[in-house]
Amino acid sequence: MKKRIAILGATGSIGTQALEVVRAHSDLFEVEVLTAQNNASLLIKQALEFLPNAVVIANEQLYSEVKEALSGEDIKVFAGDESVSQIVEMESIDIVLLALVGYSGLKPAINAIKHKKRLALANKETLVVAGEIIVENALANRVQVLPVDSEHSAIFQCLVGEYANPVEKIYLTASGGPFRGKRRDYLSTVKKEEALRHPNWSMGCKITIDSATLVNKGLEVIEARWLFDLQPSQIDVIIHPQSVIHSLVQFCDGSIKAQMGLPDMKLPIHYALNYPDRVKTNFERFNFADYPSLTFEKPDRETFECLDLAYMALNKGGNMPCILNASNEVAVEAFLKDKIGFLQIPELINKCMNTISFVEKPNYETLVETHKETITFAKKILY
Ligand code: NDP
Ligand code: MG
Repeated sequence: MKKRIAILGATGSIGTQALEVVRAHSDLFEVEVLTAQNNASLLIKQALEFLPNAVVIANEQLYSEVKEALSGEDIKVFAGDESVSQIVEMESIDIVLLALVGYSGLKPAINAIKHKKRLALANKETLVVAGEIIVENALANRVQVLPVDSEHSAIFQCLVGEYANPVEKIYLTASGGPFRGKRRDYLSTVKKEEALRHPNWSMGCKITIDSATLVNKGLEVIEARWLFDLQPSQIDVIIHPQSVIHSLVQFCDGSIKAQMGLPDMKLPIHYALNYPDRVKTNFERFNFADYPSLTFEKPDRETFECLDLAYMALNKGGNMPCILNASNEVAVEAFLKDKIGFLQIPELINKCMNTISFVEKPNYETLVETHKETITFAKKILY
């Protein structure tokens, strides 16, 4: 039986790479659902190739364009944010690949879990905003949440077969981004074009900026806390500019396992979609001679303040990671519009974390409120 997949965010960096995986393994996978926000033309093209049961265009103004283009096919067309969340309920879906960006992934994630759909999760912001709720719901509904983020896929792969063996700590590797080794005076004038030039990975704009500020690694620390049930003190970050060791687990006996491979997101996507099996691929193979030295260094936490802000949010708990995430979303959008400088990103996050009311035990509704309140406050400061 083929696995029937819903790809939420099909037109993005992860979504298109997931479709490459599906294209190469049409004997294993069938596309059931595709969704996009604004990119109607790519969504239409994908739908005509993969012939899903349904597509959703989140931007309602583009509904008629998509509907008309697909009128000759037996494909249901829906529009709007609510439909993106609801579409995961479809009986025929076996696995949901959540590749939306930012907070927009939260509601579909919760809905997918409630409807007992296996979740391949790329959208780390969901775990940052509501990690505890996601984990509780996944346990209650016996749903597996499979990481797609390369570091978390690495940790997950290192843990296979280890059952209850105690983990002492994990090391999340980070490339360091385009500004590794740079200091504040340099960063004060950098523009988005430079920040968008990631040395090793080609990704969507938001995560590329997040990688440049190192907030991405901070978000990943929070993501790891929930995926692997670790204490913040058990999660360390190490800069590894070559990006071939995707992360490491240190066990209670001091032994360390690492997962390696070329920096290619198709690998963790493929692993999550096929889990627990390993299926042969034709992806380019790693050549040791191309990497005569693998290096490691400590992150510069003074210059890249976002990493510590994320640890602070995680240690504080409650709605603080939600505040961190929402303020970062506003800051990144403003930076991409040339409204603020690079160093104002941590500044804005800091201000929001110090201002928005703290809630120790937020439920889903409280987190929705915190998100809204933070967005409004952050925008008021900026605009
Ligand atoms: P992209 O920006 O490339 O793609 C995002 C996708 O989601 C697009 O299909 C976009 O549609 C859609 N989308 C965006 N906003 C909304 C919204 N409000 N409602 C509905 N759909 C929306 O992002 P990436 O693929 O880079 O990243 C996706 C997630 O995966 C992020 O959480 C990121 O942190 C994570 N991730 C990404 C990696 C990568 O290599 N790219 C690596 C590890 C994690 P449209 O195209 O129409 O705008
Ligand atoms: Mg990552």
